Amino acid sequence: MANTLYDALFLAHEGSEKTFLALKDRRAVSYGAFLRQTARFAHALRACGVEPGDRVALQAKKSPEALAVYAACVAAGAVFLPLNIAYTPSEVDYFVSDAQAKLLVCDGAGASALEPVAAGAGARLLTLNGDGSGTLADLARGQPERFEPAERRSDDLAAFLYTSGTTGRSKGAMLTQDNLLSNAEALVETWRFTESDVLLHALPIFHTHGLFVATNTILLAGGSMIFLPALDIDDLIAMMPQATTMMGVPTFYTRLLADPRLTRELTSHMRLFVSGSAPLLADTHVEFERRTGKKILERYGMTETNMNTSNPYDGERRAGTVGRPLPGVDLRIVEPESGRPVATGEVGIIEVKGRNVFKGYWKMPEKTREEFRPDGFFITGDLATLDADGYVTIVGRAKDLIIAGGYNIYPKEVELLLDEEPGVLESAVIGVPHPDLGEAVVAVVVPRAGATLDEAALLAAIAPKLARFKQPRRVFSIAELPRNTMGKVQKNALRERFKGVFA
Ligand code: ATP
Ligand code: MG
Repeated sequence: MANTLYDALFLAHEGSEKTFLALKDRRAVSYGAFLRQTARFAHALRACGVEPGDRVALQAKKSPEALAVYAACVAAGAVFLPLNIAYTPSEVDYFVSDAQAKLLVCDGAGASALEPVAAGAGARLLTLNGDGSGTLADLARGQPERFEPAERRSDDLAAFLYTSGTTGRSKGAMLTQDNLLSNAEALVETWRFTESDVLLHALPIFHTHGLFVATNTILLAGGSMIFLPALDIDDLIAMMPQATTMMGVPTFYTRLLADPRLTRELTSHMRLFVSGSAPLLADTHVEFERRTGKKILERYGMTETNMNTSNPYDGERRAGTVGRPLPGVDLRIVEPESGRPVATGEVGIIEVKGRNVFKGYWKMPEKTREEFRPDGFFITGDLATLDADGYVTIVGRAKDLIIAGGYNIYPKEVELLLDEEPGVLESAVIGVPHPDLGEAVVAVVVPRAGATLDEAALLAAIAPKLARFKQPRRVFSIAELPRNTMGKVQKNALRERFKGVFA
């Protein structure tokens, strides 16, 4: 029987005693051991009545066993639904009920709070603790170490991944086996992953970045991962000498840069640093190269589409851009209303089509229809320009576009100018309600250590470089921009906080 995703990612390693996961405590999990665990879990899923197509939700600490639940779902043909460990029981309730999960696996410490949630959603509740113990492990103990994978077609669902909820309520993206496999293939090829690679993995495994981009790529290439529980700079630095590659969100790089132990020597053997999930400041790229001699490779993707673009492995990695479309990804930048491609250098909305693009939002047929063009292109909601060489530069999200007095303002343009000012570490530009203009431009700025904000001086400094209508009406100082776990700036939170400024 065929199960394309299982065969390519997991079956290929059966019997291999090579290290798949190297853990912080120096324990190593071989591919063989991981697959035996996967088989036991897959049998346990079956024992709970989980059949192909059923949803299995997991809200658990990052561990080899939590990753084996993903593998077991693929083997059993279940739809894997990972949940952010920060979600509260009422948030989990939404996802588990919305997805009609058959099974919810959670950390033992959270079980009593989630019992009513599981009961209400008609899901069975099992536990999986950070050390691999729990009722799931109990059920799996003594189960056979081989499992006959369920037959799955490439069009069958492999996962429901809920979007990060940066712009509104999270939407469940239905991802097929082929969506995941085709993207892993594109990334192995583009980033030259081989079985000699050791990936430094400090990302969460409930998000596309740590789960699919990192893990599926390593599995397909047959490499290893240094599997760290969370982002801890001491761990990253201690483990880096054993790695060949790292994938991180921009916060990884800014935190590394803030540490004097980040040197040329520390990174000399690293062949690749990848960044994504949020914009990497051009400054960070430049500074990282100055310190280490390595150019961070920035790529762009989303839950719904997997990865869409990447800077080249061999060619020029351009700071501030997300590179060109990956193999198999059709990308165009269009005027939002007409859908007509914009001219080179003009801002438009990114649309993509390819095997990487999801099947639709779960139980949201209307929303799904709205986000696809009749010719099958998915409207990402990200605004960008395309240059003559085919490099994409993201200028923000359509939802963050500011319309003041009828004029469009792309926050990124203003943010870049603010960030160039000596006292400014970083900035976020938002639109807030204004009685006269509809919306007014407001800048929220994080001063560099030791600097204080002089609103008038800052406005005067950028004024000559920016049309009057784009200039912020007010500038506020803030110690830190609100970010979610993936390092995304939560502009919704900022809009909420400053909404009354002109009221
Ligand atoms: P929601 O859709 O629920 O509002 P979200 O879009 O933040 O949340 P994700 O799917 O995790 O959820 O994130 C995808 C988005 O992340 C992209 O649409 C894009 O805006 C942003 N993104 C990803 N990589 C990059 C990058 N390299 N540069 C700039 N933005 C990026
Ligand atoms: Mg989104």
